[in-house]
Amino acid sequence: MALNQSGWRPTTPESGSNAPATFTGNKALMLEEALIFEIGSTDTTGVDFSASPAKTGAQSGDVATGPRPSPGNKLGDLFRAKPIGLPGLSEPETVRHYTRLSRQNYAIDLGLFPLGSCTMKHNPRLNEKMARLPGFADVHPLQPVDTVQGALGVIHQLAEWLVTLTGMHSVAMSPKAGAHGELCGILAIKAALEKRGEGHRKVVLVPESAHGTNPATAAFAGFAVEDIPATPDGRVDTEALVARLGPDVAGVMITNPNTCGLFERDLKAISEAVHAAGGYVYCDGANFNAIVGRVRPGDLGIDAMHINLHKTFSTPHGGGGPGSGPVVFSERLTPFAPLPFVERSDSGFHLVEEETAGEHHADSFGRMTAFHGQMGMFTRALTYILSHGADGLRQVAEDAVLNANYVLRSLEDVLDAPFAKSGPCMHEAIFSDEGFPEGFTTIDVAKALIDEGFHPMTMYFPLVVHGAMLVEPTETESRAALDQFIGALRSVAERAKAGDATLKTAPHFAPRSRLDETLAARKPKLVWREPVVASEAAE
Ligand SMILES: *Cc1c(COP(=O)(O)O)cnc(C)c1O
Repeated sequence: MALNQSGWRPTTPESGSNAPATFTGNKALMLEEALIFEIGSTDTTGVDFSASPAKTGAQSGDVATGPRPSPGNKLGDLFRAKPIGLPGLSEPETVRHYTRLSRQNYAIDLGLFPLGSCTMKHNPRLNEKMARLPGFADVHPLQPVDTVQGALGVIHQLAEWLVTLTGMHSVAMSPKAGAHGELCGILAIKAALEKRGEGHRKVVLVPESAHGTNPATAAFAGFAVEDIPATPDGRVDTEALVARLGPDVAGVMITNPNTCGLFERDLKAISEAVHAAGGYVYCDGANFNAIVGRVRPGDLGIDAMHINLHKTFSTPHGGGGPGSGPVVFSERLTPFAPLPFVERSDSGFHLVEEETAGEHHADSFGRMTAFHGQMGMFTRALTYILSHGADGLRQVAEDAVLNANYVLRSLEDVLDAPFAKSGPCMHEAIFSDEGFPEGFTTIDVAKALIDEGFHPMTMYFPLVVHGAMLVEPTETESRAALDQFIGALRSVAERAKAGDATLKTAPHFAPRSRLDETLAARKPKLVWREPVVASEAAE
């Protein structure tokens, strides 16, 4: 839509609506906002700069003015030759611009965020308060260890909790996300195989019910990935997996709870078979929130598993960060775990690094990160753990599972639920677009949910389900909030099943309606051009 002469985008009223267009494009408190390039000007700034240094030979239009400073400025005697054309706004305009944009975001603090496989739950403010204490927030990774004893104590105490909760032998705290944790686990397995002289084991078996990062990790670490089919009830086909074991198999990567939202019941038997065949068991435990306090992965024979602190133990995430994916190890893999780690002795906490590790850790595969991991997330996770206590953590899992089953059972009459007969789900409920009339699919439901004021659920994942809708309500939603979401999804599903054409153009009430997402992904417009005034616009 083009700007009009006044630089505003007029609204187009909804088709069939008798609402008038507004001059500003705003719809009451829903404020339209142009790009900063459109509203800013290169002549405006909120800051008083002193005169810029001159550059000899400056051409007209160059910003450089005033005397040239002595050589050796901070940019190595480089000077700007041309204006860079960045738009400026006054301070209040800048504040408004970004505040208006931020209001177009959806956030967990606004409402239920049902993305599955991503656990968007409430983040207690206490965590934030603790993480912002200067003693944690302002430490530098190169500070002498005797000045950061408290921070190292947090890492150590959190590590102890993770080892206890998982029933495993040790933990590497440094990996910075779930996928990074997978890489850490797989590199430890690789190191263990090489130490045994079995580096020729090059195949990693990955069931269809595993998360997409699993095969990516195995491939990245140089293994050949082989798929193991899923059974119709959404679990790994144990028979097929066991049949494929052999001297070329390095191990398996199994997501539990899996991407069909189900518990892999055969994991213990699978571990025994994999171990008997000389392989290792990697478990993707990103969604530990579904089993924390109820199941100890160590009891299932797992050799390595990452835990997404940001999913289970809370931290505001999404949009790319932050994450933290500590990896717990079995006794057999512990010698190969990465450095550094925090150790406690009579004299306090210290870091075991390459220089200090000595022969004891000679088999460590190396490092995952430059320093020690995500300090802010460690502080949040430990705060979350300590404020919930062991009983509270168990209730986290119970409520997450209860809420997901409530959603599943409340909607299975109106939406196809492919695994509804496979028993209770874990933390996620899965539906499909089976039974929708021709031309209607999951995306229409998702877009209409935006009109209902909800972030859409995960769509078209897991791949084994046609038109999948993956809903993870999490444990922090009340029954009232769930009922409202269920009501909205029910209404939208009924409209889809009735072939309601207005769904095809939803969302109708969002700042932007249905976009051509394929075009946007394939041919993104990355360069801003001068806006076209309404009188010249072709529209
Ligand atoms: C989220 C998730 C991952 C990836 O975690 P990141 O922190 O995003 O790298 C891996 N596996 C499963 C099952 C997940 O849910």
